[in-house]
Amino acid sequence: MDNRYDIIIIGSGPGGYVAAIKAAKLGMRAAIIERGEIGGTCLNRGCIPTKTLMHSTHLFYEAKHLQAAGLHFEGISFQMEELQARKDEIILKIRQGIVSLLEANGVTIFKGNATICKENRVIVKGAEEELELSAKNVLIATGSIPSIPQIEGANLPNVMTSDELLGKTELFPKLLIIGGGVIGVEFASIYSELGCEVEIIEAMDRILPTMDKEVSLSVAMSLKKKGVTIHTKAKVVKLLPDESEELACEFEEKESTKLTRAAGVLIAVGRKANAMDLFSPELSIEYDGNNIKVDEFFETSIPNLYAIGDVIRGKQLAHAASAQGIAAVERMCDKEISIDLSVIPSCVYTTPEIASVGMSEEEANQAGHSVKTGKYPMLGNCKTLIAKAERGFIKVIADADTDKILGAQLMCERATDLVGEFSLAIVNGLTLKELSSVIRPHPTYGEAVTEAVEDAMGMAIHLMPKRK
Ligand code: NAD
Repeated sequence: MDNRYDIIIIGSGPGGYVAAIKAAKLGMRAAIIERGEIGGTCLNRGCIPTKTLMHSTHLFYEAKHLQAAGLHFEGISFQMEELQARKDEIILKIRQGIVSLLEANGVTIFKGNATICKENRVIVKGAEEELELSAKNVLIATGSIPSIPQIEGANLPNVMTSDELLGKTELFPKLLIIGGGVIGVEFASIYSELGCEVEIIEAMDRILPTMDKEVSLSVAMSLKKKGVTIHTKAKVVKLLPDESEELACEFEEKESTKLTRAAGVLIAVGRKANAMDLFSPELSIEYDGNNIKVDEFFETSIPNLYAIGDVIRGKQLAHAASAQGIAAVERMCDKEISIDLSVIPSCVYTTPEIASVGMSEEEANQAGHSVKTGKYPMLGNCKTLIAKAERGFIKVIADADTDKILGAQLMCERATDLVGEFSLAIVNGLTLKELSSVIRPHPTYGEAVTEAVEDAMGMAIHLMPKRK
């Protein structure tokens, strides 16, 4: 077998496998190395399993609250094992799809642990044999692993990361979540919708602290409505085993020490690069233990060695990793980069969904724009009323001098799909008028995009005129 390739990709998550297929499509001889399951974190321990569970829990929660719509369900219940089995079935189906695509595009798959050596040689240690491969280009797409804070008791049984909690068929009657970021909030949503008690301890002054303030306050309100207790500006001191076989958690909140108990604890305080033992000692690469340093074309401090996705600094998002993978491969092939990497939408799959892209109003002001905003409350949107959906809004931010769209925040049903309209507008420099110049079908959630954009121009049809 010829072990020389044009590109070797390490890691088969949405960064790695997309890059491999793109490389093959551009005529490169490509190999991909994976030590775990094909699909990486996103498919096996991240986006897909959480969203599959959330799909079930949203339906369960909604079914219990549909009396007002004239629907009555008696004795509605769920079996955690069956929810997990469905989740595993979906993962398997998607994994088989990815493997088929890789194979059909002529990408060679190696199963094993990769070590990068000098001159782009890569040693693959499989279960039975060790191989040496080499390539003109090597792309690191090894993703991230959960960060574990230095807290006493963090290694106790039933203190888990999202990787472990996702595999549990046991349902904890009470879940304590350390960290109110995206993972914390999504698990709070899953567990509370199943009727479990949930408590969040967040270090900053609000959950989802990196999101628009209004969005994070609205999410907090909607979680509280589902019975979730939220502590902010709170710091965990220690976790202890409890005589009632629960875990006790001592934490500080607003200068007083408090104690709470839970059957399970989820640690969700961020993720760090998964690059331990990836490099042979002879290789000297700029890597600070958290992120691998790359230039604007994703090349590391070593020529022809690239890195994309969660291993580098930036948004740890599957779609960002895929886009970076495509860009890195295009760069290797001396092609023009086909994706605007500066506009990356962020999504949280709560009910209602949250999505944002571009600048918030605050960021636009800080960047020196004179800012114009428009906002439409979803309770004025017919589709939202029909679907008995929760309150929410679409907000658009534009430059007041040019009317060009700068950003948008959405908190509504299908926000994660609708945000694409704003991404398209920002990437293409569209103005408010251009974004409002298309007919959106009625009744749809998308009509609220038109209304928000027209509000920024003072022309929204379905909003009461502002008092002069
Ligand atoms: P995160 O960075 O989103 O949130 C971590 C939270 O923990 C922060 O709010 C932080 O203030 C808090 N925190 C940190 N240390 C703490 C401590 N000792 N005590 C209490 N709170 C503490 O990280 P995450 O939620 O673990 O997610 C990891 C990454 O995965 C993120 O980059 C996220 O964007 C990504 N992700 C994205 C999605 C999605 O797009 N829907 C879903 C899941 C994860």
